[in-house]
Amino acid sequence: MTDTAAIRSVEYEQPLVDAAGAAGATGGACATRQAWARVPPEPSAAERAALKDRVRRLLKEKDAVMVSHYYVHPDLQDLAEETGGIVSDSLEMARFGRDHTARTLVVSGVRFMGETAKILSPGKTVLMPDLDASCSLDLGCPSAAFSAFCDRYPDHTVVVYANTSAAVKARADWVVTSSCALDIVRALKDAGHRILWAPDRHLGAYIEQQTGAEMVFWPGACIVHDEFKALELALLKQAHPGAKVLVHPESPADVVDLADAVGSTSAILKAARELDAREFIVATDSGMMHKLRALNPGKTFIAAPTAGEGATCKSCTHCPWMAMNGLAGVAQVLETGANAIQVDPALIARARRPIDRMLDFTAALRGGSAPGALLAHLGAA
Ligand code: SF4
Repeated sequence: MTDTAAIRSVEYEQPLVDAAGAAGATGGACATRQAWARVPPEPSAAERAALKDRVRRLLKEKDAVMVSHYYVHPDLQDLAEETGGIVSDSLEMARFGRDHTARTLVVSGVRFMGETAKILSPGKTVLMPDLDASCSLDLGCPSAAFSAFCDRYPDHTVVVYANTSAAVKARADWVVTSSCALDIVRALKDAGHRILWAPDRHLGAYIEQQTGAEMVFWPGACIVHDEFKALELALLKQAHPGAKVLVHPESPADVVDLADAVGSTSAILKAARELDAREFIVATDSGMMHKLRALNPGKTFIAAPTAGEGATCKSCTHCPWMAMNGLAGVAQVLETGANAIQVDPALIARARRPIDRMLDFTAALRGGSAPGALLAHLGAA
């Protein structure tokens, strides 16, 4: 069931300051057109080499490590791995940043990833190339309106996607990422919980369909995945009959229905490695292609279509906020200490609980614990 009565339209095209104010909330986010205007120019080969050298030196000098998402520029993915950092999905980014001994984390991704790193490591300095790099899911779920929505469902367990502000996480019982959402909601459902889900409605609907859980949804969407089109994908499949289709569950349901594998960025990487095919059609941010191609030489990866041939405009399948991250920004924040993430300590205390639950749950699941037993152990809401 989608409850929209109290929810205003989601706005992506206006600068939006969370009702809770800048500190510890969405703050400073910028709209898509502003984000595209702030995407750093591609450096020349000589500039790229010089910037990479500068970052390598600064990482050592500042006792820092790079934590990059699969959707950012290939330079930031490669340099993170080369220097002992990580390129991963948001769950592994959180875990890696928490467990690493470096005093400074340089998070290349979007703001909620930096906030999550700070919540888990309040004693570390967390820097980002551009603090205004946001996410349509985060922008479309302001904390005051979300809190009012939760108040209307006091008997529901509040499960929020990681793509939310610290203030929204603080209102949640559980935080999840796309790589663990199914397991956590299934375990909650088996324990008799009804779920209030936010903010991605497509991922929520997919989880509801997979688990049979009783859920109410906040009506948000990812502006990148929302653009994939089922009709054109079906035609592309016909043109490539041997290709397997890999889909991120933030995509619309009719696109998910055409998938051979559905899952998080990590699950997509796994499927590309393990499925018996040489060609793949991929419905997720185009930043993912770098890792897919690097890890699967000899296989072909084709972007899923975002609009029909007759359309006047096609999406580029790339997140404008992820695109705001660049080598020059990483070098600059390391040099100056600018763009440090700040989260109110009181908010950290409240937002950390549901994140820790997620991390404890996934760690125990990896260790072989039964999900139901784990929920009881954690005393989850
Ligand atoms: S790709 Fe979508 S979900 Fe990911 S940060 Fe961008 S807008 Fe948010």
